[in-house]
Amino acid sequence: MKLLFERSTPGHAHTILPELDVDMPALPEGAARGQRPHLPELAEIELGRHYTELAKQTHGVNDGFYPLGSCTMKYNPRVNEQAAALAGFADIHPLQPACTVQGALGVMAETADALAEICGMDAVTLQPAAGAHGEYTGLLLIRAYHLERGDTARTKIIVPDSAHGTNPASAVMAGFTVVSVPSNAQGGVDLDALRAAVGPDTAGLMLTNPNTLGLFDPNILEICRIVHEAGGLCYYDGANLNAVMGHARPGDMGFDCVHVNLHKTFSTPHGGGGPGSGPVGCKAFLSRYLPGPIVRKGEQGYELFKPEKSVGRVRSFHGNFLVVVRALTYITMLGAEGLPEASAHAVLNANYLMKRLEGSWFVPYGELCMHEFVIDVAPLKAETGVSAMDVAKRMLDFGIHPPTMYFPLIVHEALMVEPTETESKAELDAFIEIMDRIWQEAHEDGARLHEAPLACAIGRPDEVGAARNPHLRYEFGDLS
Ligand SMILES: *Cc1c(COP(=O)(O)O)cnc(C)c1O
Repeated sequence: MKLLFERSTPGHAHTILPELDVDMPALPEGAARGQRPHLPELAEIELGRHYTELAKQTHGVNDGFYPLGSCTMKYNPRVNEQAAALAGFADIHPLQPACTVQGALGVMAETADALAEICGMDAVTLQPAAGAHGEYTGLLLIRAYHLERGDTARTKIIVPDSAHGTNPASAVMAGFTVVSVPSNAQGGVDLDALRAAVGPDTAGLMLTNPNTLGLFDPNILEICRIVHEAGGLCYYDGANLNAVMGHARPGDMGFDCVHVNLHKTFSTPHGGGGPGSGPVGCKAFLSRYLPGPIVRKGEQGYELFKPEKSVGRVRSFHGNFLVVVRALTYITMLGAEGLPEASAHAVLNANYLMKRLEGSWFVPYGELCMHEFVIDVAPLKAETGVSAMDVAKRMLDFGIHPPTMYFPLIVHEALMVEPTETESKAELDAFIEIMDRIWQEAHEDGARLHEAPLACAIGRPDEVGAARNPHLRYEFGDLS
């Protein structure tokens, strides 16, 4: 498709500013540009068509099924958007005095309280802008805790080999070294390996439960006990909270600190780098290290304060506030009954898909899964040459966003499927039919699947090349 600059026609631009009716002030020497800015000249209708064409070339939750494992691409209720667009939330300034934004501060306080209750924590910061940012923040709390006690030897964070890639990355960013522990045959943490890994240098453990195989670790209490007995703290990666919300709380499992992905579990549109929010909750003994400012109820209403031994700010102002508004809308709409029901449906949908698919497709771990499960395409590849990549690319032809691929790393030809609770049985059945068809195609004409997608605007871009050598600027050529 054409870019805006290629659609541009000289003379189609319109000046929307009125003519100056005062003298043009003199600009300081050197401040004026030498040439007019090179901007595309388009009428509004052309601009509208350009963006509509762009939108049609991508795939979102509103286009169709989006089982992108670990990312929780659930439907985001429109009422969330209505709430976030209210002028009292959307048109305020972060530097307004607290007395003029009591409603907004109330939203922050209520959301923090709700998340503390859902996670079994005592205090919450809403500052982190995403899950990985929350991980980093939580690890700073753990670090501050050990350092304040003068325990400088605790420099290692234990991470299971099934962890999300952000976990080891955040640990390194926070100044720790990473110790990887292997999974056992059931896909959980190998307890003997964990016992061997902990010691006086253990700062803590990072774990997501259910893990990235979609399995709830039945040894979770023992895992936390082993780490605590060694003097470490336990960090819960709450990106998979959609599986257990209202059923099990990280705080009750023994975790000291947790982040939650509001954009996943609590329904804000995400993907494409849109605004996220990764609030961090902690037990009372860590709350003095939380980043400030935090909202609390004072004598004059809501006020902002900075905890006593705060690790400092991790983001400007109050975090991504409008994501918080969406989350509170979602939590309030569903309530204490609806939240666990949403999780129960997410788990039911995933198990339905898993049981229907495992007749032909190979599911290496788990009798029952939580909100997602992992298919291993390796046996199909050995038989037909068709890889997880080929299967995922073929799905695009049927208007389905592929599952997460080649992750977790311990399953080499992984397709990680997370249907979420918002899909109907009819949608799941349609997906099963497409998977059956791809299975058949793989056996009949596997070579054709290496060419998939056969009907999309873009087929197989060089993803590594695009990441390593991004081409981000438009080459105008001669502008004279
Ligand atoms: C999504 C995810 C993260 C990272 O969250 P971001 O908001 O993308 O930074 C961390 N852990 C797990 C298990 C996830 O699924």
